[in-house]
Amino acid sequence: MDRNIFQEEHRIFRSAFQSFIKKDVLPHYDKWEEKRIVPREFWLQMGSQGYLCPQLEEKYGGMGADFRYNIIINEELAKVAMGTLGVPLHNDIIAPYLQMYCNEAQKRQWLPKCASGKAILAIAMTEPGAGSDLQSIKTTAIKDGDSYVLNGQKTFISNGISADLVLVACKTDPKAQPGYRGISLIMVERDTPGFIRGRQLDKIGMHSQDTAELFFEECRVPAANLVGTEGEGFKYMMKKLPHERLVVAVGCQAAAEEMLKETLEFTRVRSAFGKPIQEFQHTRFKLAEIATEIELGRVFVDRLIDRVIQGEDITVEGAMAKWWVSDMANRVAYDCLQLHGGYGYMEEYKIARWYRDIRVATIYAGSNEIMKEVIGRSLQ
Ligand SMILES: Cc1cc2nc3c(=O)[nH]c(=O)nc-3n(C[C@H](O)[C@H](O)[C@H](O)COP(=O)(O)OP(=O)(O)OC[C@H]3O[C@@H](n4cnc5c(N)ncnc54)[C@H](O)[C@@H]3O)c2cc1C
Repeated sequence: MDRNIFQEEHRIFRSAFQSFIKKDVLPHYDKWEEKRIVPREFWLQMGSQGYLCPQLEEKYGGMGADFRYNIIINEELAKVAMGTLGVPLHNDIIAPYLQMYCNEAQKRQWLPKCASGKAILAIAMTEPGAGSDLQSIKTTAIKDGDSYVLNGQKTFISNGISADLVLVACKTDPKAQPGYRGISLIMVERDTPGFIRGRQLDKIGMHSQDTAELFFEECRVPAANLVGTEGEGFKYMMKKLPHERLVVAVGCQAAAEEMLKETLEFTRVRSAFGKPIQEFQHTRFKLAEIATEIELGRVFVDRLIDRVIQGEDITVEGAMAKWWVSDMANRVAYDCLQLHGGYGYMEEYKIARWYRDIRVATIYAGSNEIMKEVIGRSLQ
């Protein structure tokens, strides 16, 4: 499909980024997956080429680029290396919090490092006892003179091992009712005493994307690390989550398209009963169904990208795209693996990795059930 949301400069950028991936990601990717981490050098290389936070103003080390450049980076990484999806998390989900809610001094301190790769970002909302129900978080940050003292535990934190700066959702007023009123966002820097990284979690997919538990034990941070206004953290997250959901949909859509491409090629060259398996009616119908769903997803996702660029609110439609496209990409992964037969179950075939990697997309960034709650409430 011809995508009219992009212009010539975006196409040039995409082509340059594809060359970067070919040269600086693909030759190393299996090793990263094996080691369960994307090395810091990758982040620094991305930064030096302008691929981290391109949206930032030049004075903060960015290129002042429009959202489409971020989309291109997200799509190209999702196509070939889903374990690097810590990058869209850094670029498109966390850095925008700092851009929107930090004061000038905080921006000057942190944003140039986000753009260069010297500061890798993570966001820590989820706790062992609170995932979907974010209001119930228990981590506290109690003001003490010029500091906040944090106590609590977070889990499933992407970039949790690599991160230099973690945006922590915590209760600055644990007694506030309803619970969301007492939530604030506080930045915690690597090596702050009392900030302890727990286990790197062993996931079924996205192996090179590090995911960790984090602990805060009498962790004292300067009060100046508060992002925005005390008690407004929940509001900030609710405002930013629709964007995060679109970012997930963008990655899933690109991955689904690539899975189809790979499967078209496989079914063209693989023969059974004396002919390419693509010539069986069942295979053709299955491919037709997959291609149709992918086309529907593409139209919807591009429409939402365009609406974000126009500054429109996509709270409901972002939730629709997140659940539908991530479900669709999982169906595509299942069907494409099936069309590969036994080869699809072998690690050396790309579809095997996609099948594992895409699974989580229906769970994180708000589970698909929660997305349906968001949509359902808007209909009442
Ligand atoms: C690989 C990975 C990376 C992640 N990265 C991050 C990160 O960087 N930062 C971060 O803060 N978190 C992160 N998460 C956490 C993620 O956002 C949560 O796992 C998710 O929000 C679900 O929360 P939970 O796991 O506690 O499940 P629960 O909230 O316990 O949900 C369990 C089940 O119940 C369903 N459910 C819950 N409430 C309702 C309801 N009201 N109606 C219907 N069904 C409901 C859910 O949909 C789900 O199916 C990550 C998770 C994973 C797996």
